[in-house]
Amino acid sequence: MSTSDPVINLQTLIRCPSVTPAEGGALSALEAMLLPLGFKVERMVATEPGMPDIENLYARLGNKGPHLMFAGHTDVVPPGDEASWSHPPFAAMIAGGELFGRGAVDMKGGIACFVAAVARHIEKHGMPKGSISFLITGDEEGPAVNGTEKLLKWAAERGERWDACLVGEPTNPDALGDMIKIGRRGSVSGKVSVLGVQGHAAYPHLADNPLRGLLPLASALMDPPFDTGTDNFPPSNLEVTSVDVGNPATNVIPARASFAFNIRFNDTWTADTVKAEILRRLDAAAAGSPLRPGRDPVRYEITWAERPSHVFLTRNNALIASLSEAVETVTGRTPQLSTTGGTSDARFIKDYCPVVEFGLVGQTMHMVDERVALADLEILTQIYGTFISRWFDNALLP
Ligand SMILES: [Zn+2]
Repeated sequence: MSTSDPVINLQTLIRCPSVTPAEGGALSALEAMLLPLGFKVERMVATEPGMPDIENLYARLGNKGPHLMFAGHTDVVPPGDEASWSHPPFAAMIAGGELFGRGAVDMKGGIACFVAAVARHIEKHGMPKGSISFLITGDEEGPAVNGTEKLLKWAAERGERWDACLVGEPTNPDALGDMIKIGRRGSVSGKVSVLGVQGHAAYPHLADNPLRGLLPLASALMDPPFDTGTDNFPPSNLEVTSVDVGNPATNVIPARASFAFNIRFNDTWTADTVKAEILRRLDAAAAGSPLRPGRDPVRYEITWAERPSHVFLTRNNALIASLSEAVETVTGRTPQLSTTGGTSDARFIKDYCPVVEFGLVGQTMHMVDERVALADLEILTQIYGTFISRWFDNALLP
């Protein structure tokens, strides 16, 4: 059975140019791998006004519990300047023991290995002692509106229930076995506009410079720290990401100035409480602005970016232990359990079942010459295979 070879699976997937939002043949190629293994495969197209339609795939093997889900995406980021690649980005060429191509590590490689792991499991042990499903989106690298979130809802409405999920995103900084992700920080973005009165720079008493208000407001968000971190998370951190005045003239006091910010917050907070803390700091700084002696409080407006990402931490020890032990068995290394990095689609999955993330080494993701060592594909397939066996054994313990 050729699908038991992750290298062949990955070459097939890379040769489908599935740059978001294009399906590029990648989901069809995956479907062709899963059908012979016995999966029931469904394709779900998600739509949203003003956005391109996105193809997604849900496939399930077995019809009883316990139910293990593998989640990921077949879409990839654009290759950039193709001439800068050592080998064409969609040719899936092998050189020096490495397979080159866009999506090699993020994350067609993870999918290729999980397919191979399931194929080998069936060859060796027969059908799994429960169900295995693939929940694969074509919209992770783009706006992620027509992807995992809608696919989960669609499947759940059809009665699908899961006991655990493994996301195959690249999680290892340097070598396979470094790191399992067991949670993610939340993320909230916003923009604060400070209102002033426009005027001549030589007649400041007739104007009100909004920059005098902006500076204390921005600094109140950056200091003091929001917290000192928790057992499983680093300290929350807010960065001012842009300051905009849009004023080309040196002799004009502008009417308005704004700054944008983003905070990555830990499980001390929820999206709502962190927003409340931000408002409290802004109000306090506006009322007592030292740069505006004798003036009224700073007038400001705030707009929040849509769709904050919620913080989560997986506490399912059987799931974490099954994966951690599989990594140790295959690599001899003890993976760090981490919550670092940006957000991922795990933030949607956590509302349905416990979720952990483990995939390839992320060093070349999104870069020119994205590539994966053939040896890593074999090792990851073995880790996934060991994990599948252990997870079902653990889940079926009385
Ligand atoms: Zn990814």
